Formats: sequence, structure tokens, C-alpha cells
Amino acid sequence: MYLSVVVPCMNEEGSIPSLVARLADAIGPYKDRAEIILVDDGSTDATWAAIKAAQQICPQVRGVRMSINRGHQIALTAGLEAALGARIFMLDADLQDPPELLADMMTMMDRGYDVVYGRRAERQGETLFKRATAHMFYRVLNAMSDVDIPRDTGDFRLVSRTALDAVLAMPEKARFIRGMFAWVGFRQIGIEYSRAAREVGETKYPFRKMLRFAIDAMTAFSTKPLKLATRLSFVSLGVAALMMIYVFRSLILYQTAPGWASVVLAISAFSGVQLLTLGILGEYIGRLYVEAKNRPLYFVSEDTRAAESAPPVLLKKRA
Ligand code: UDP
Ligand code: MG
Repeated sequence: MYLSVVVPCMNEEGSIPSLVARLADAIGPYKDRAEIILVDDGSTDATWAAIKAAQQICPQVRGVRMSINRGHQIALTAGLEAALGARIFMLDADLQDPPELLADMMTMMDRGYDVVYGRRAERQGETLFKRATAHMFYRVLNAMSDVDIPRDTGDFRLVSRTALDAVLAMPEKARFIRGMFAWVGFRQIGIEYSRAAREVGETKYPFRKMLRFAIDAMTAFSTKPLKLATRLSFVSLGVAALMMIYVFRSLILYQTAPGWASVVLAISAFSGVQLLTLGILGEYIGRLYVEAKNRPLYFVSEDTRAAESAPPVLLKKRA
């Protein structure tokens, strides 16, 4: 197998027909040695039926169905682990990432690159809020993290088997895949493209999920937030020292307790700092807990390839 295409799909029944049609064109030159893995991430609409229908039209399609919704990054991981190709192309189901860029990415890889990622030059059809938060996210992440994660990139990329095996060797449960690819190294390069608007359906990343994703990314690639806690405690100690001078001065000058406004102020400021630092600690302890449980990342309930060749493996578990 030369080329594997991996697409995580959650409630994408409307996107799949045009997605598969455009992918079938894009993989044209390699179609005898290519597979298109569509991972159904616990969809509640007819996505699985759409995948099976697509398979009738395009024999390269392989459906992998997750036992339940586990989120974009885990669904993508499931697809990457199923992929057999020497080169692996990943993109979103909603055609925001143009499959046609595959040709250019292949050319770059021929020149010896292991990771060719798409860099979003512009984003169409996305709200100002989404663009602004995404812009901030990549900048804050880079300021905080110890790895240089390319800005404005998604998971849209072509990677070599070498780079993929390196990423799959990383056992962590909270997976921030674009960061993991940045971390493993090898020769990497970006190609600019303009990110189109979603063709059908709506975003599967509401603010809540975006925030979770951002916290995962920060804590996975940086211990700076932990140090932030230490720094904040220095600041609060400094303020407390100043407050003490003020309190003593008031005691001497007015010989009465100087009202409780300052006390309330101090208590609320310091409890804020304490809660913040506790929260940061909690994030890391929570992650340690999840890693310590060491549960399988996901279960596959159906795999159309397994049904054809080997006896059906209904509950394939990740080691
Ligand atoms: N997705 C998924 N599981 C989820 C959420 C999203 O597999 O729980 C898929 C989704 O079907 C799409 C990709 O991840 O192919 C990116 O999601 P989306 O386009 O909604 O994100 P956005 O482009 O708005 O950031
Ligand atoms: Mg999208």
C-alpha cells in the first residue's frame, strides 16, 4: 500500500459523497495502491450508511466505526493506526481542506520531506470570533510551549511512514496530533492554502470543545502553567507585604480597624490566585490520573476491511 487517506467523520452524512468524489480524483495517479479510511466517530446521523454507500462507488474506501464518540483527535488516531500506507494524508471531512493539495504535498515529499503540512493563509466562512480565538490560540501556545508548533496549521497534512510511526509510538491519552508531529522532528515543511468554508453541516467544535482542546494542547506541551502558579504566588506575596504596611500604618494613625473593605479586597484577590493555581495543579493531576489508568484509547465496533478478509474482529483494542 502506497497511500492512505485518513478522515475522521462525525455527523458528516452530507459531506461524504462529495468528499469521496473529490478524493477519488485526487488519488487518481495512485488509485491501485491507495485506501481511503473514513472513521465514523460515533455519529448519530446516517454517516455510517453514507460510508458504506461510498464504498459501492469507490472501492478504495474503508470504513472504521468507533464504538462511541471519542472526539476528533482520537478518531484521527484510530484511522492513523489502521492505515497501511507508506504515505499518509489526513484531512477533515467537511472539505475545508482541499483534497487537490495532495499533488503538491506529494511533490514536496518526493523532495525528501517527512511532514508536509497545510498552513492556512486565510479562512473563509468562519466567524470573526473563531478566527480571533484560533489566532490567539496558536500564538499563546507557542509562547508557552517548549516545542515550536507551526502557527495556523491544522491536522491537514501528508506524512511519511517514518514520521507516523514515531507519533504512534507516543502513548499519551490526551492527543494533540499536530503538536506531536512537531515534537517528533524529521524534515518538515508547510504549504500555504486558503481554507474554504464548510460545505454542509455545521462545526463540530463549539466553544466548550475548543477550550478543552486548547487546555489539552497547553498542558501536553508545556509545564510553564505550573511555573505561572509559582510566579503568581510571588506577586501575591508582594501585594500581601504592601497590604501589611498599609494595615499597620492605619492602625497607628487611626487607632481603629480601618474598615473591612481592604480585608475583603485582599481575601478575594488572594483566594482568586489560590483557586487559579489549584486549578492549574488540578489540570496536571487529572492528566496523570488519566495516564495512570492506562485505558485503551478507543474500541472499533466495525471495520469494513476486517469483514472482507480476516474473520471479523469486533473489538480491536489498542495496546
Ligand atoms: N470530528 C470528529 N469527532 C468529533 C468532532 C469532529 O471526528 O467529536 C471531525 C469532523 O467530522 C471533521 C473534523 O473532525 O471532519 C473537524 O471538525 P470541524 O470541521 O467541525 O471543526 P472546525 O473545522 O470547525 O474546527
Ligand atoms: Mg471544519
